[in-house]
Amino acid sequence: MSLNTLKTDTLVCGGGCAGLGAAISAARAGVDTLLVERAPFAGGIVTTVGLPYLDGIVDPKSGDIVVNGLAREILSRMDGCAPDASRYCEIAESHLEAGNQSAVLIPNTEQFKRVADSLLVECSDNLRILYNASVCDVDVREGRIEGLSVATKGGLYKINARTIIDTTGDGDVAYLAGSKMEKSNPLMPMTLHFRIGNVRPTPNMKQAMQRECEQAVQAGEIALFYGPHFEYHFADNEMDIHAIRVSGDASDPFELTQAEITGRRESWIMFERWKSNVPGFENAYFVSSGPYIGVRETRRLKGRYQLTEQDILANTTFDDAVAIGTWYLDVHPNSNSPGQFQSFNPKWPGPYHIPYRSLLPKEVSNLVVAGRCHSATAIAASSSRVTVTAMAMGEAAGAAAKLADLMKRDVAEIEGSSIRSYLADNGVELYPLN
Ligand SMILES: Cc1cc2nc3c(=O)[nH]c(=O)nc-3n(C[C@H](O)[C@H](O)[C@H](O)COP(=O)(O)OP(=O)(O)OC[C@H]3O[C@@H](n4cnc5c(N)ncnc54)[C@H](O)[C@@H]3O)c2cc1C
Repeated sequence: MSLNTLKTDTLVCGGGCAGLGAAISAARAGVDTLLVERAPFAGGIVTTVGLPYLDGIVDPKSGDIVVNGLAREILSRMDGCAPDASRYCEIAESHLEAGNQSAVLIPNTEQFKRVADSLLVECSDNLRILYNASVCDVDVREGRIEGLSVATKGGLYKINARTIIDTTGDGDVAYLAGSKMEKSNPLMPMTLHFRIGNVRPTPNMKQAMQRECEQAVQAGEIALFYGPHFEYHFADNEMDIHAIRVSGDASDPFELTQAEITGRRESWIMFERWKSNVPGFENAYFVSSGPYIGVRETRRLKGRYQLTEQDILANTTFDDAVAIGTWYLDVHPNSNSPGQFQSFNPKWPGPYHIPYRSLLPKEVSNLVVAGRCHSATAIAASSSRVTVTAMAMGEAAGAAAKLADLMKRDVAEIEGSSIRSYLADNGVELYPLN
């Protein structure tokens, strides 16, 4: 078997919310960085699923923007606010979801592919990008990752790096490296998002759509649904629909395949029922789905510290805090939730600390794990997994890589307080907790 080899200082695995944060933060700091991403574009959930939310950026109680750095920069690049905006009310109307005091939107998820490309390409002095490339194996020796195998159209690449950042969402690198991981039982359901065009909005449309979903469940055509919830993100006659709920474990390749097939089948069943029976859908057509089913949770690291819901709800401060989270405890059930996403009144913590130790595995010294697979309990992660929090963790991981490079150490030896100071010196100060 032919094997290509590559060497870099920092390897970022996965170019989603956390991976963008990590790759851009490391490369801007002057670290030789390589980003590998399994999709043909970066952006993670925003572009692989088509989800426009920048949740976790605003504390709804104070109205403050509580996360500095890349998320706010992206918002300002997409004409959502001035670069120094500090309050929710300073965000452009077109970037706010009607009736929701905290939801901030990217107006166009397709455009976000270009924005992500530009952000990465601007770093090309220090950053190489490899799309259509999946990490598939890890070689660990004496508690360090010595090399990773990445599957590409050019065959397997063997990559060596001082620091590896796992931003795959599923913790693929940490898992393959033998780090302790955990999974919820049951896992939250997956959701395929889809868009329907040429819809004429009519009164009581949502109720009529919901009735069709309920009848589809009763008839055994679909297993579960929520909502249906829909927005008109792209045009006032085009619905972006959140309604699919598929149970399963997306870290099992066969279950993931089945979930993709089920999500597509059930979205077409919903569409065809609505088109036949709901006024306003007469001339509608199915625009697109996916391109990937959305995965809320799979493996989480069981790291040097496990963030808990008690920490989050008590706004516990940590000496090694490197990022700020703020979002409600957002657990989606494996059951039907007609009319709404949630069947409960969610708990909203104020802004809270994420400690560096919750990004570090116990078993491997040159790996940082950022994004939804960081070390947190299931309930804590239901808040700390959201997009902006993941981006902030990624930026902290990129700063850790910079300090590891400077000090010729492994990331596990870097102090969280040093990372925080480095971020602050570079314009990413942590929002102060009272
Ligand atoms: C249906 C759904 C709805 C959601 N709703 C919201 C919401 O409204 N607001 C909100 O803020 N959050 C929401 N979330 C949660 C949020 O989107 C994620 O938790 C967040 O994107 C996590 O960021 P991440 O970078 O860890 O993962 P992702 O953004 O998923 O990025 C992971 C990246 O790694 C890549 N990758 C995976 N495996 C490999 C591999 N082996 N090799 C190379 N690349 C790999 C993937 O292609 C992807 O680009 C939702 C999630 C889902 C699934």
